Amino acid sequence: MIKSHLPKTQVVIIGSGIGGCIAALALAPHYSVTLIDKAPVQQNKVGESLAPAAIRILKQLNLQHLLSDPRHIVGQGTLSYWGSDEPTLIDNLKNPDGFGWHLDRSYFENQLRAACHIANIHCIWPAQLNGSTMTSHGWEIEYESDSKTHRLMSDIVIDASGRHCVFARQQGIARHQFDKLMSIGFTANLNITKNVAIISHTDDSWWYSAPIHQSDLNPGAYQQKRIFSWYAEPHAIKKAQIHTPQVLLQHAQEVPGFQTLISQLDHSSATLHPMLAANSSKLESCSGNAWFAIGDSAISFDPLSSQGMFNAMACAIQLSELLIDKGLAHTDNQRIYQQQVDKIWQSYLAHRALYYKMVS
Ligand SMILES: Cc1cc2nc3c(=O)[nH]c(=O)nc-3n(C[C@H](O)[C@H](O)[C@H](O)COP(=O)(O)OP(=O)(O)OC[C@H]3O[C@@H](n4cnc5c(N)ncnc54)[C@H](O)[C@@H]3O)c2cc1C
Repeated sequence: MIKSHLPKTQVVIIGSGIGGCIAALALAPHYSVTLIDKAPVQQNKVGESLAPAAIRILKQLNLQHLLSDPRHIVGQGTLSYWGSDEPTLIDNLKNPDGFGWHLDRSYFENQLRAACHIANIHCIWPAQLNGSTMTSHGWEIEYESDSKTHRLMSDIVIDASGRHCVFARQQGIARHQFDKLMSIGFTANLNITKNVAIISHTDDSWWYSAPIHQSDLNPGAYQQKRIFSWYAEPHAIKKAQIHTPQVLLQHAQEVPGFQTLISQLDHSSATLHPMLAANSSKLESCSGNAWFAIGDSAISFDPLSSQGMFNAMACAIQLSELLIDKGLAHTDNQRIYQQQVDKIWQSYLAHRALYYKMVS
């Protein structure tokens, strides 16, 4: 067989979000890993609430210190107005893993990127996946970087590109959407601090509010930046004609559990964020011939669960353990990984049905 003259890696990971970085860090002591991302630096993404159980995965990789950074706010729990006007406190004090976090999301993802550099992972960004072909030497990956087209060979591919699932889509794998949930939100500064998230159900939709990091607030001042998000069907959001943060703010004033927060809000600081897909969706197959999809690329959850980032970490670790244990080329890998993802998905669907039944 003629040897390929292209650069070679054992594992190529598309996407350096939380899932991609955790997989790279777990695999790097065992295999040569190349991590590709289209973003030069990680910008802020929506979603900041990290489940307490995430600390287990970070401990496994000796990265628990990342969460000690003061930019990440300790999450004491969630006040839930779900199916009742009386709030239920889901107190993290009672959680065996301890408190959760309201992450400074871009900072955390760049912390993970820095850890990948320290672990000598071959990191390429900005670099956008163009295409891929299975050859007799493995996957030939084509990507665009520095306005040039590059190619490399890899034994396996991990698609960690989030809801875009770029690699899986290029393989022609369908993605199934289980609902049409969308989100729209605003951030604003408040004159009080409250380190709990609030979830509140209203008619056919629900709301979320949580503290987020802001570097330009006076340290020590009783001030806080919070996100307020509305989750609803697209027709409901379009009908509300939200073109300014003030329109959304008016709706937020009516939400059970939000009144105190809104009364302490500096209206001039309110900034509207664009509408985003927040549906539950799943790839028809999360693995194939020498490729695997992890995190949002494989399955994406309703943000009500606050489990998306934890799921990305957990998928990354489960897949890495399988590939370390059985080797990259084992014929059972594809089937075992698919079963693992199916199990997570079934338990997520059951949990989600239970939650929505409480308000139907
Ligand atoms: C409105 C909303 C609120 C949410 N709130 C929460 C929350 O509070 N808590 C929580 O845990 N989860 C939340 N989530 C979900 C969470 O954000 C995702 O589950 C998480 O980002 C998944 O991580 P990931 O690494 O799989 O993918 P992503 O974070 O999407 O990372 C994918 C990476 O792939 C890169 N990429 C994409 N295309 C290409 C390409 N062609 N070439 C190269 N690179 C590419 C991107 O630049 C990106 O860095 C929320 C989601 C939404 C929509």
